[in-house]
Amino acid sequence: MKAHIAVLPGDGIGPEVMAEGMRCLRALAERHGHTFTLTELPFGGAAIDLTGNPLPDETLRACLAADAVLLGAIGGPKWSAPQAKVRPEQGLLGLRRALGVYANLRPVRVHPALLGASTLKPEILKGVDLMFVRELTGGIYFGDKRREAGSATDVCTYTVAEIERIVRSAARLAQQRRHKLVSIDKANVLETSRLWREVTTRLMREEFPDVTLEHMLVDSAAMHLIRRPRDFDVLVTENMFGDILTDEASMLAGSLGLLPSASLGEGRRGLYEPIHGSAPDIAGRGIANPYGTLLSVALLLRHSLTLAAEADALEKAVSEAIIAGALTPDLAGAGQAVTTQEAGDAVLKRL
Ligand code: NAD
Repeated sequence: MKAHIAVLPGDGIGPEVMAEGMRCLRALAERHGHTFTLTELPFGGAAIDLTGNPLPDETLRACLAADAVLLGAIGGPKWSAPQAKVRPEQGLLGLRRALGVYANLRPVRVHPALLGASTLKPEILKGVDLMFVRELTGGIYFGDKRREAGSATDVCTYTVAEIERIVRSAARLAQQRRHKLVSIDKANVLETSRLWREVTTRLMREEFPDVTLEHMLVDSAAMHLIRRPRDFDVLVTENMFGDILTDEASMLAGSLGLLPSASLGEGRRGLYEPIHGSAPDIAGRGIANPYGTLLSVALLLRHSLTLAAEADALEKAVSEAIIAGALTPDLAGAGQAVTTQEAGDAVLKRL
């Protein structure tokens, strides 16, 4: 197959983990007879430095023309001054909106070899396999923002259509898994959450009677996620709750550096990125965990390129590299850790 992939390394550890992602894509193309054209483009803080714009026109055009977009991470202290007019995050929100990727899928699995890596007890973690579906292009992050002398306002809006399409995405995934959906809201306080609950209840009854639906308040969900994570199958929630809860859920797996994500819209094109940020505290040292990026590449192969066998092969190679102990410092004990590149080598060797 021939595919065009727009590659946005971004800032901080973004280029470091992306180098490994590109190596794996090239190796898979060679081994399976595909032609992947990888086009690297400026994005985020790096693009602000180059052009003054976190999402330059050339980058946006290339992303819209590509079969898939692979992103490292953006942001950092250099571009974070409170008075800054242009921010890397504006590029990310703009890109998600332009690509129309409203469903952010974040699978969380606890690898048996990493049961000891989490701060939680192994017996709580054994067998955890859940899928977060976060609404990505609505809610408070996209609402009007106002600043007055003594106050500030962020508006949160959701439409019926926005809720319906994200709940449908999540329910379809539940049908391919264990047929359980938990919808997370704050319906005891927020009007948007009351609408969310109403629409979800109706849609699930009408269209997905084979999926069990449970509603959960966001504060309660935060607690149950670390008390009994094994009970969850698919979870669906709005933008900000999803942002916060998925970072919490990443700790089940042992490190933020392990978790991939796929952001999807109506067609096959998607945006794929590890869930972590640019990690300025470790950037430039070659020790970032590349596995979240490599697992994001696997999601890209499966969802945008429909190359399921290649995706399975890459996930298996990452899993075997973990079992073999190829772990960066976020997961390994001091003195036993490998570098970002060595972790990539360990995966390539097993592909
Ligand atoms: P972060 O995810 O960058 O880092 C949090 C902690 O996790 C740090 O201690 C970091 O060293 C560690 N970590 C993250 N990824 C890792 C990896 N692959 N391997 C090993 N350790 C890893 O979050 P932060 O520090 O809150 O944010 C830093 C910057 O990243 C900010 O500018 C923020 O806005 C941005 N950010 C970007 C994205 C994105 O690009 N999608 C997401 C979150 C944060």
